[in-house]
Amino acid sequence: MAGVLLAEKLQLAPSPEEADIILINTCAFIEDARSEAAEAILRACRHKAAGGCRAVIVAGCLPQRYRDRVAQTFPDVDAFVGVDELDQIAAIARQVAAGRRREVGGDGQAPTRLFASPYPGLRFSGGPFAYLKVAEGCNHTCAFCAIPGIRGRYRSRPQVELLTEATALVASGVREINLISQDTTSYGRDRRSSNAGVTLSALLRTLDALDGTFWLRVLYGYPSRVTDELLAVMAAARHVCAYLDLPIQHSHPEVLRGMLRADAVRAVADLPQRLRRAVPGMVLRTTCLVGFPGETEAHFQHLLDYVADAKFDHLGVFAFSPEEGTAAFGRADTPPAEVAAERRDRLLRLQRQVVDARRRALVGTRAEALLLQPLRGDGRKGPGDVIWLARLARQAPEVDGVTHVKGVPDNAKPGQFIPVRLTGGRGYDLAADAVA
Ligand code: SF4
Repeated sequence: MAGVLLAEKLQLAPSPEEADIILINTCAFIEDARSEAAEAILRACRHKAAGGCRAVIVAGCLPQRYRDRVAQTFPDVDAFVGVDELDQIAAIARQVAAGRRREVGGDGQAPTRLFASPYPGLRFSGGPFAYLKVAEGCNHTCAFCAIPGIRGRYRSRPQVELLTEATALVASGVREINLISQDTTSYGRDRRSSNAGVTLSALLRTLDALDGTFWLRVLYGYPSRVTDELLAVMAAARHVCAYLDLPIQHSHPEVLRGMLRADAVRAVADLPQRLRRAVPGMVLRTTCLVGFPGETEAHFQHLLDYVADAKFDHLGVFAFSPEEGTAAFGRADTPPAEVAAERRDRLLRLQRQVVDARRRALVGTRAEALLLQPLRGDGRKGPGDVIWLARLARQAPEVDGVTHVKGVPDNAKPGQFIPVRLTGGRGYDLAADAVA
């Protein structure tokens, strides 16, 4: 949307306070996301009522999912923009600036379109890293998940378009490209009939051939879609981090079947072992869902044992959120919310022990750090005055913590890679010293 606005000669304001029109892009897949979106919308509407801006536009998954209700719920919003209408954003902005309201368009069907930015190097990450969306939608039917209904069937972006975007990102100073989608490991499967050989492995090989110093990272895969070929590409690549984010959701076969993820049962069983065998030192992130309908204490204990054994480097936990329009909605065997919350906390406490042990084991090891920004200085010259915020290949942006690096040379710049030796850290964050 930002690219379309720029291409249509509309300016992007540096903050909502300075904007004539506030555009809020929303997430709506669980209750927490909807609450966050609602808070942002109401804040913007209050700002408008106080004369702070001319109009408020709400785009993305919230109007897409609740097209019949959003206008009633948020009567002060000037326009709603569904997922398939994002390229109309400039015309819609002009319309609301002229005082004309707009309901969400479309026919209520799942989205089918794919967009490429007219400004492929444009980014909002606030650092030398970016996200490259390789596909839209999802063809899985996980019983708890509203995303396929909101985003539609899986559709991969053409490889050549992704190559253009990645090239522009690297040229604009990006040093870490994170490949994302609802299921990145399914990249190309929807294009097989017309274009054999389109796979995530092939895409990674192509992007890996780009010149420059940068990382590629694969986020949000599906356990059973990790092929031996993909692991071989990862093991041999120059730029691809030995890192995979594969949400398992659960370990117990009965719960996985209940989640309509039966095709993941076998893959989940030996996932950490298989991946670490194929790519030594592979860093693994996963996500689990607890409190799913039918999950018993014994099922949950199975998950605790699995996680204790797997020793994931990074792990996130969601408590089940019953979502309208999904297979698991309204089931009588749904554990109470307090039970789900308590299981989430227990799993997180266990994972914290894994993280603490791993952090201690990393002390003394060396790694490359990507410098993000100097954190503070006391005004004196010389190395050691400034602590740099940085990340290692084992840390994905925003979710895995950061590394605080001391002794970075004075002339260092954000986006630079430097060798470091790990010295410790705290919680999910690591600490390191720069080494010559
Ligand atoms: S694979 Fe992910 S996005 Fe797709 S239905 Fe399952 S949980 Fe939802």
